[in-house]
Amino acid sequence: MTFKPVIKEIELSDRNEENGLHQFVVTLTNQSKCRLFFSKDPDWKIIGVNRLLNIPCPICRKDYYCNCMSKYANEFERQLIENNLIQ
Ligand SMILES: [Zn+2]
Repeated sequence: MTFKPVIKEIELSDRNEENGLHQFVVTLTNQSKCRLFFSKDPDWKIIGVNRLLNIPCPICRKDYYCNCMSKYANEFERQLIENNLIQ
């Protein structure tokens, strides 16, 4: 498996100050979009990844829901934190 997601854009989509849950929509360099679920308490921690269905999955090629992107949750978290994309 040579696929490696690279985040190109990020957009805050929802934030709940009370429970620290945040949702971001990220666009990858291959144009895939994913919704990332984060908790902040006080450190950021990724708790979920949903691929949006704008293009077929770059891994399994399905154009319906799959779980492939969930395997990259830690990679998404690392890129967002290391690149200071969330704060
Ligand atoms: Zn897939």
